[in-house]
Amino acid sequence: MLPLFLCQNGWMKNILKRSALITPLLALLACSQDTAPLTDPTTDTSGNQIDLIVAGDYIVTMDEAATVHKGSAIAIDDGVIIAIGPAAEIAAEYPAHETLDGKNRIVMPGLVNGHSHAAMTLLRGVADDLALMDWLNNYMFPAEVQFVDAEFVRIGTELACWEMIRGGTTTFVDMYYYPDTIAQVVDNCGMRALISATVIDQRSPDAESAADSIQKGSGYIERWQGKNSRITPIFGPHANYTLNAEQLAKTRQVAMQFDTPISIHVSESPFEVQYAKDTYGKTSIEMLDSIGFFDGPTIAAHVVWPTDAEILILAERKVGVIHNPTSNMKIASGISPVADMLAAGVRVGLGTDGAASNNDLDMWEEMRLAAFLQKVEQMNPEVLPARTVLRMATSGGATAIGLGTEIGSLEVGKRADVIQVAFDDVHHVPTYDVVSHLVYVSDEQDVASVVVDGTVLMREGEILTVDTDRVTAEARALAAKIQSALQERNRK
Ligand SMILES: [Zn+2]
Repeated sequence: MLPLFLCQNGWMKNILKRSALITPLLALLACSQDTAPLTDPTTDTSGNQIDLIVAGDYIVTMDEAATVHKGSAIAIDDGVIIAIGPAAEIAAEYPAHETLDGKNRIVMPGLVNGHSHAAMTLLRGVADDLALMDWLNNYMFPAEVQFVDAEFVRIGTELACWEMIRGGTTTFVDMYYYPDTIAQVVDNCGMRALISATVIDQRSPDAESAADSIQKGSGYIERWQGKNSRITPIFGPHANYTLNAEQLAKTRQVAMQFDTPISIHVSESPFEVQYAKDTYGKTSIEMLDSIGFFDGPTIAAHVVWPTDAEILILAERKVGVIHNPTSNMKIASGISPVADMLAAGVRVGLGTDGAASNNDLDMWEEMRLAAFLQKVEQMNPEVLPARTVLRMATSGGATAIGLGTEIGSLEVGKRADVIQVAFDDVHHVPTYDVVSHLVYVSDEQDVASVVVDGTVLMREGEILTVDTDRVTAEARALAAKIQSALQERNRK
């Protein structure tokens, strides 16, 4: 029966966590009666319809037990998952305004992209096949100072949100300039995001120095904190080679005053590790730990070169590490010891990095490459199996970015960030193991529908919240200007 089904899925724990949404009394009632229909005075008033049902031939919950249900459905109301059960029972119990049909569909949590520079979609392909410092100092930083303004960020972020929604990403952690503009785009397109105000001690598109970027970032955080539950404004100090120890400590101090997390590049390249040794007499993570940088929640992108001692620091300090396998391979940053970090208890998620170093925002590719890269590096096919990688892209990633109690798995009481993946394409025939297929076969073109916070953002391939024709025209027009300016500069 439905209530029994719910009790088996850890829903009580989640309901108690979200007692403001669904009363603990209801939880007790539902678990003690396995024959009576589940009734919820806050979400299932008789005669009224709930918002949405998402059905599937399989529901891959990514809960702690990695439960997979067959022929089931999820009931969603007010942005929250209120029930999961056999499709016929959910349909009978919960009349809904809309149902996403489950035939040939796998339902799973939306993907969590833990590290991106969304607006860099507009610089995709501008400079390829270069080492990180060459790429940054001679191409990206100068190009950004010349071309990036609020309009660039709006168009580039809209383009990125379209690409991410199309590929089943529902949450991303961004680090770029003009964060108010990024937040406005995310507000409009319906995704969930942690959006950093970039802090960097050089002239950037939206600030003159570290102090200036901290001051402007503080204003942004004041404007967006508590404004939209899908948007978390955070600080994004760029790295320990673009900020000194004092500036890094100051950023942490201001972030603590706002009670907001930090996203930062950490131990990305051998250059950075050497720079930290030469400048601070310590490796990157030891240096950050020594100045109290990990005293608040931290999302550390890359972490390619940690020592064993540093891996222990990351685990102890509950630092969320975001692995970016494509970017690390393309820029030849190295191979992150992901399996070692997971074994040590580090919280590890996945990210794409910006589209200028990837060159797309496809989390399916990140999953596959994360698995393959570890296997070939260790010459061991058992390392980083499909289930582990899928967790890194969903519940593990959500935990790494500090949203593990809100999203990342399909459980009653969690926010309804849900995707449907089609599995009737030729590469899904036959399907023996849905998790294996999701990681090793599926790609972003297979994503059929995307729901964030209970709102449908893409239905059967149709993007509903981004004006794709307008964004295409705007992006092409801006790219033409960038291209002619680059050609002009190269002629000099
Ligand atoms: Zn990055």
